[in-house]
Amino acid sequence: MPDSTQSDLERENAELRLFRTVFDMAAEGIVVTDGDNRILAVNPAFTLITGYEPSEVIGKDPNVLRSGLQEQSFYDAMWEQVRRTGRWDGELLNRRKNGAIFREWLSIATERDSQGGVLRHIGIFRDVSEAEDTAHRLWRHNNLDPLTELPNRGLLLDRLLQALVIAGRENSRAALLFIGLDGFKTINDTLGHTIGDKLLQEAARRFSGCLREGDTLARFGSDEFVAVLAAAHSVEEVEAVVRTVLESLHEPFLIEAHRILTSASIGISLWPGDGDDVESLMRNATGAMQQAKEAGRGTFRFFTAHMDARAQLRSRLAGELSEALEHGEFSLVYQPLINVRDGRVEGAEALLRWHSRYIGAIGPDQFIPLAEEMGLILPIGEWLLAAACAEAAGWEPAGLGPLSVAINVSPRQVQQTDIAATLERVLKASGLAPERVTVEITESLVLNAGDEVLDKLNRIRALGARIAVDDFGTGYASLSYLKHFPVDQLKIDRSFVADALDNTEDSRLIEAIVALGHSLGMTVVGEGVETKEQLAFLAEHGCDLVQGYRFSPPLAADRFREFVRSRAFILPP
Ligand code: C2E
Ligand code: MG
Ligand code: MG
Repeated sequence: MPDSTQSDLERENAELRLFRTVFDMAAEGIVVTDGDNRILAVNPAFTLITGYEPSEVIGKDPNVLRSGLQEQSFYDAMWEQVRRTGRWDGELLNRRKNGAIFREWLSIATERDSQGGVLRHIGIFRDVSEAEDTAHRLWRHNNLDPLTELPNRGLLLDRLLQALVIAGRENSRAALLFIGLDGFKTINDTLGHTIGDKLLQEAARRFSGCLREGDTLARFGSDEFVAVLAAAHSVEEVEAVVRTVLESLHEPFLIEAHRILTSASIGISLWPGDGDDVESLMRNATGAMQQAKEAGRGTFRFFTAHMDARAQLRSRLAGELSEALEHGEFSLVYQPLINVRDGRVEGAEALLRWHSRYIGAIGPDQFIPLAEEMGLILPIGEWLLAAACAEAAGWEPAGLGPLSVAINVSPRQVQQTDIAATLERVLKASGLAPERVTVEITESLVLNAGDEVLDKLNRIRALGARIAVDDFGTGYASLSYLKHFPVDQLKIDRSFVADALDNTEDSRLIEAIVALGHSLGMTVVGEGVETKEQLAFLAEHGCDLVQGYRFSPPLAADRFREFVRSRAFILPP
């Protein structure tokens, strides 16, 4: 009937208009080809994504978009599937008109005629390069260490949990390796961070090469790596991996014309056995690494329960230390500094002592690093600065003469506090003349000094106080480097003094330090002088001051006063 034909036609037209709108408005690129795969039509999204106008592609094969990055076999397989099933879905790389490569998600459908011949192919595609890039970047940001591209702490903990699950299921073991590069800080300080970073990247590559499939290597701290070995079947198997990791460092690193030789210390904990959870496994592996370091570096240690006691002691120490200041458990001792020429006492170095009411006396080499780590060195440092100045202010009025006091400050104290202002305040409060104070800084501070640190050192000197570099010679600060620093005194580390007489290299180093120090107008102090031969050697080489058991150990405040009084009558050494 004409009426129904009319409305059929209308409906068909309306449908066609609708399809046309969809075709034009779709965000996906649409390309329609005939049975010979010649392009019949493309939509505006196609032009937007590829850059080709319809007139440029109609009648052509869609392979004008090919990137050339995928093998012919890829396309063969794709068309083979289209022929067989009529469909293909997948990702491929194409090239835009401007040459840029993009990743697209493509679906191909086939329309056949009543005889089964191919009438048309309809390809619908979406540009997924950007979405994927963003997702990928986000994932990397959250899970990888930017320097080495290794998993970070978070991802590693996931993998560790997985390894524990696998070990439980397969009745095997998981091992946690805590790997610390030995002496990395020195390398970083001496050769700079750029080289330090490259060394870490190369070390990461070498370590990764030692692991088995299914193992994970992660970067944990600046110079610390952690490996999780999944499904280990014996301790020997773990040990074999550990040895290859250590051996991977036997070959020197060649970085920007530097040949750098380093080693690693590895601590290992195993599951099951060495801890009930991820936390304790980590803690125990770390403790074992500490043991390996103490055993002389370049070696490994498995965790033992005995070591756990040490870790506990350390955490106990930390607990006590945090309350030590409050309970007045710190004191200062004073070690005389002697003038080489006339044997007079020039002053003293103030050295910190801690006597815990529960644990007893603990050496500064043990608690100072801990205090640094915990940030406690700042309040402790401020306390001792005031205490040392107050004590020294009493020396001259007590008739001991114009003695000076040397005070050790930690790098953190200089970096993180306004040390010059603190010093100025305690000098005022104590009434001590600034010329009586020598601030001992570490060589590492000098090596890392930026403008801010330099400014602080200059302000300390502007007050009238002096600056000494402590343990000089251990951190590889080059002598010529020192020219640019506001330094008045070098203290030669006691390890060089100890070896001076039987090690020609050390004796030459001492000569060089004295000569250079003097040429820059500095005084030079020999530390740790124990024998008269060492004293004679230092005197002969022009050292100005000496300090050591040869003259006196560090003394309590009143004993130091007695020492100066009795010493006043003693002739030059
Ligand atoms: P340092 O500043 O180089 O202090 C010299 C160290 O050598 C002192 O050890 C001293 O007792 C020791 N010593 C002196 N003469 C001899 C000797 O003839 N032979 C030997 N074998 N040793 C000798 P101490 O008091 O154990 O201090 C160790 C380190 O702890 C100090 O080295 C310093 O770096 C740090 N330290 C000590 N007191 C303080 C402090 O008040 N503040 C800060 N930040 N660090 C401190
Ligand atoms: Mg010192
Ligand atoms: Mg020293």
